[in-house]
Amino acid sequence: MSIVENLAWVRERMEIACRRCGRNLEEVRLVAVSKTKPAAAIEEAAAAGQNLFGESYVQEFIDKEKEVRAAVAWHFVGALQTNKVKYLAGKVAMIHSVDRLHLAEELSRQWGKIGQSVEILIQVNLGREATKAGAAEEEVEALARAVAFLPHLKIRGLMALPPYCDDAEDVRPFFRELRRLAGYLTTLSIPGVEMKELSMGMTHDFEPAIEEGATLIRVGTAIFGERH
Ligand SMILES: *Cc1c(COP(=O)(O)O)cnc(C)c1O
Repeated sequence: MSIVENLAWVRERMEIACRRCGRNLEEVRLVAVSKTKPAAAIEEAAAAGQNLFGESYVQEFIDKEKEVRAAVAWHFVGALQTNKVKYLAGKVAMIHSVDRLHLAEELSRQWGKIGQSVEILIQVNLGREATKAGAAEEEVEALARAVAFLPHLKIRGLMALPPYCDDAEDVRPFFRELRRLAGYLTTLSIPGVEMKELSMGMTHDFEPAIEEGATLIRVGTAIFGERH
């Protein structure tokens, strides 16, 4: 199947999932995760109306971003090393993977240099997986309170990359937990902390994620095919 057909399929699944749970399709944004895929694939998706892309590797993104002619927006969704933040400043609209204060400080510093702010999500390690990035659930409140003081960041919500489950239904409790945590943080009314975005759901499980309140789904394989 072509990228155009894949995109149509994903959008249709999104629509059906929204209808099933009584949500508006406009509440859910599709982030097309284009890591490892060439600029031509991004252009193809852009020509089919997809205007938001997610990347995971700094160097690869910088190279591709120069090549892509279409007017698209970029989100950074992958693990981010502090010493690479400077290459992203001004080039991405949102960082989904902020999981430590030191990284947030550097993001604020680099965006401050160009007189702008960047939207961020706090990544939460819900499965307590040692191999995965993300702040532990019990650290998230303290992290949000600290990050809220940084001048060039806007906290917009939470992101999670739950454990892979063969049956996508088994991921649902993790999605629910992320939404519950966002709800809890909202009740704290921390100045500067907004919890309007929930970044959750990938190729394998974006439908249950939508049903559980995702506002950003990050889909790669279903759009661009397998990564090699
Ligand atoms: C690669 C990646 C995705 C996309 O995964 P697919 O299974 O290909 O849809 C989503 N989120 C993050 C953080 C990723 O690194």
